[in-house]
Amino acid sequence: MTAPAILRVALPVPLPRLFDYLPPPGVDAALVAVGARLRVPFGQREVCGLVVGHGQADPGVELRAALDAPDAAPLLRGELLASLRWLAGYLHAPLGEVLAAALPAALRRGEPLPDMARYGWALNEAGRTALPAMRPGRPRALAELLQILRDEDWLDVAAPGWRTPLRALRERELVVRLETTGTGSGSVPRGSEPAPVSSAAFAPNAEQQIAIDAIRGAAGFAPFLLDGVTGSGKTEVYLQAIADCLARGRQALVLVPEIGLTPQALARFRTRLGVPVHALHSGLNDSERAATWLAAASGQARVIVGTRSAVFVPLPEAGLIVVDEEHDGSYKQFDGLRYHARDFAIVRARALAVPVVLGSATPSLETLHNAQSGRYALLRLRQRAGDARPPQVRVLDVRKRPLHAGLSEEALAAIRAALDGGGQVLVFRNRRGYAPVLLCHDCGWSAHCPRCSTPERPTAMTVHAHGKRLQCHHCGHRRPSPPACPDCASLGLQPQGNGTERIEAELQARFDDVPVIRIDRGSTGQRDGLQKHFDALGNRPGILIGTQMLAKGHDLGNLVLVVVVGIDEGLFSADFRSGEKLAQLLIQVAGRAGRADRPGTVLLQTHHPEHPLLQTLVGGGYHAFADGELALREAAGFPPFAHLALLRAEAKQAELPLQFLQLAKTLLEGSGIDLHGPLPAPMPRRAGYVRSQLLLAAPARAALHVALEGAVPALYAAPEARRVRWSLDVDPLDLY
Ligand code: ADP
Ligand code: ZN
Ligand code: ZN
Repeated sequence: MTAPAILRVALPVPLPRLFDYLPPPGVDAALVAVGARLRVPFGQREVCGLVVGHGQADPGVELRAALDAPDAAPLLRGELLASLRWLAGYLHAPLGEVLAAALPAALRRGEPLPDMARYGWALNEAGRTALPAMRPGRPRALAELLQILRDEDWLDVAAPGWRTPLRALRERELVVRLETTGTGSGSVPRGSEPAPVSSAAFAPNAEQQIAIDAIRGAAGFAPFLLDGVTGSGKTEVYLQAIADCLARGRQALVLVPEIGLTPQALARFRTRLGVPVHALHSGLNDSERAATWLAAASGQARVIVGTRSAVFVPLPEAGLIVVDEEHDGSYKQFDGLRYHARDFAIVRARALAVPVVLGSATPSLETLHNAQSGRYALLRLRQRAGDARPPQVRVLDVRKRPLHAGLSEEALAAIRAALDGGGQVLVFRNRRGYAPVLLCHDCGWSAHCPRCSTPERPTAMTVHAHGKRLQCHHCGHRRPSPPACPDCASLGLQPQGNGTERIEAELQARFDDVPVIRIDRGSTGQRDGLQKHFDALGNRPGILIGTQMLAKGHDLGNLVLVVVVGIDEGLFSADFRSGEKLAQLLIQVAGRAGRADRPGTVLLQTHHPEHPLLQTLVGGGYHAFADGELALREAAGFPPFAHLALLRAEAKQAELPLQFLQLAKTLLEGSGIDLHGPLPAPMPRRAGYVRSQLLLAAPARAALHVALEGAVPALYAAPEARRVRWSLDVDPLDLY
């Protein structure tokens, strides 16, 4: 008798192995495809995994039967499945966790595939009767389009914002929603002509043309760095490359940073490309995300624009991948599966044999190094597109100057002048809240987070709500501000320093004739909130004050002045990447100024005007900084000249993380890589957990991975591992 056929399953559990199951009762194992989901019993639970292989049961081993195989066809297949297997190896993560991360949440949970039908709108009988008598306006304009059935995707392109007038038509019961695929559309005539494509109102300039031609001429895998100053027309190059890709009958994937995917940005893609553009971001609900993912898988979605996790969409007819603002930190996932979407985009482009364009005004040093060493083709846009001029940058030495909520009188005067000239002003301060510290002026006590502080290293709580509330920005702990000093009972508690809230209050008091709008994670929800703020301001004179949410990619046509306050903390941080991050932030913020026809000014307030980073950046620009920084990294043996992995461990008892990391060190010793630690993490305690880390470094990537391959399975199996929360971060972005 032959052994029964079994299914080999990758389960989303933190164990580095696969699991064998018998097929669900009455189902032939051979009919459950690799890449299809399988619901199985696991301990006392039920989990949903993916079939990754078939086999024969070993005699004498008793296997449980799976509960259900919901998919008729595999969800993960071909290139995507192969790339994900590679990713699991690269991150040394369980395959089941990697595959689960690639699926939209609804599918990961084992839910049935969502309704993939497409719908459209048309006037009903009452609508056709009412149309001739309707008053001019948006509802009437839409009603005219709906004399024939219009697909919702078509409307997105042809009539952006159509859902608003639709509401009016629905209230009056003048329209019907009908399926536009299959037979559902009944007798209503169908609009099938392509949506109008509006091309650019300008011709590409010489540098843009070179870039467009280079991407157009690429065959197979071809990585490009599109290195162009802010406002140089990078997006126009992407749009052209995408249009070429569509014309060749292929799909395009565009990755954008979390905060960059605004309705404004999407509308630009939609109106310019003339095909439905599918967005994938955290603002969608689970079934919308699943539907978009499946539309990509079926080839129905031709252009997908999305944030980090969009790098996991299936692209059966891939033609191009674009990663906008490739230096952006939001591409790296900081918990769970610690992947980097830009890096995985390159891996996929190679596997798919398509060009990949990384765009930035401030490329990461890793990417610059790859371009300089010839691995990526370098395309440069040195000038702003059209007539826009680069901003004038001035360093404002504020030593010994009076400051008002951190703003110098010179800066305040410049703000007044800009507003009087009818312009808009952006004040940048990368610190949320009212003040970073609450201090007792009589005894020196200050408010610390009880969950994140250690005796040697107190962590301050940020003052919020004009002094009424304290909040820890590391663990989220909140409490009301004490009415008096807990140590000396003094009533002289004072907020020290300035966060965006306090600067907002100061600016509102001084400039009460214009709107003052604060934009940070405290005031602004997600992308829609941001857009509402911009819409409310329009082109009127006014002041925006905010954190790095403001630094990214928003076109503010009337912005003439940027004031940067309080960057000095960043100049003296211990992290080897802090200089790079600060330089990128400063250049990106400065790039907001003077984008259209008006010249812009940037004022950098500092107590360290002689600091080399500022000197180099202002004198030579980002590339002068980057060249110097790369030389320093090479001399010090830091990335991109070395490869790192960070093992982190935390527990409530201090000795447990150290025991675990000591074991890891023993396992890794003799493998020829450098081991630093175990040491307390730069933030040695967070939310009540004591944190330690072991840093692994090697000049060559291969050596690092060979060492990890040898050690990681033993780490998973070790009893020490069960007493801590631990993680492995390959290519860590910060060493926190
Ligand atoms: P980036 O993505 O590099 O920041 P954009 O593509 O957003 O730049 O372009 C900046 C502005 O310049 C946009 O308003 C865009 O419409 C305009 N623009 C781009 N290319 C040209 C061109 N060749 N001629 C005139 N204006 C252009
Ligand atoms: Zn006191
Ligand atoms: Zn805390």
